[in-house]
Amino acid sequence: MSLLETSDLSVDYGGVHALRHVSVEIPEKRVVAIIGANGAGKSTLLKTIAGLVRQSSGGLRLDGQDISRLKTHERLDLGIVLCPEGRRLFPELTVYENIRMGAYRMRDSRQFRQRLEFLHQIFPRIAERGKQIASSLSGGEQQMVAIARALINRPRILMLDEPTLGLAPKLIHEVAKLVETINAEGITIVMVEQNAKLALKISDCAYVLETGSVALEGRSSDLLLSDRVQNAYLGGELV
Ligand code: ATP
Repeated sequence: MSLLETSDLSVDYGGVHALRHVSVEIPEKRVVAIIGANGAGKSTLLKTIAGLVRQSSGGLRLDGQDISRLKTHERLDLGIVLCPEGRRLFPELTVYENIRMGAYRMRDSRQFRQRLEFLHQIFPRIAERGKQIASSLSGGEQQMVAIARALINRPRILMLDEPTLGLAPKLIHEVAKLVETINAEGITIVMVEQNAKLALKISDCAYVLETGSVALEGRSSDLLLSDRVQNAYLGGELV
């Protein structure tokens, strides 16, 4: 059984059909990539799983249980965490304050400190930068803080929306390594990426969305070799 699955999920924004009958399966402890062109519905899929957008029809299950009516904070409590596109840090707050905001559901300060220890292992530089104002960080550092803010919840499923957007190649590789490190901790990862080659290289399986529907799905290593994927999504630079 998959950890998380959507079945026939459809989302409409007014007259715009952003998702049409999307069924995806997210196996536990794997990395799943969602790729596709701009406007294909990738962010909408993550937001719908997080409970930020309501589906017009279709199902959503975690461990086989229907979670489609739960509120965002209830899904967070079940371990579903979204790291949104564009980082969305609080620019005037420090790194630690931003991370604290991510833990808004956590009441126990000892648990918070333990989780912070865990973050320090994954991001050694956070300890150095903890008191720095977020807006003064580089784009790459801000992305790391955004991921750390999501990870403070020790999610079961971490959803990353365009984590490498706007980053230099060296930092893109750092994010890729980070995804592996986080996954090695047993955390399932769903990542939306415009960098299809990178996404397919670091994921186990993938879905290709086209205008709101699943056009292709399979093992990432197979999709990397598929003519259709190569022609439509891998025409760019190898990273
Ligand atoms: P991108 O890579 O450009 O973010 P995406 O694959 O993540 O694209 P979505 O952001 O999910 O795509 O958008 C899917 C469709 O829904 C697009 O046609 C988009 O214009 C539309 N859309 C997204 N958000 C809204 C909204 N809040 N209101 C109306 N339409 C929206």
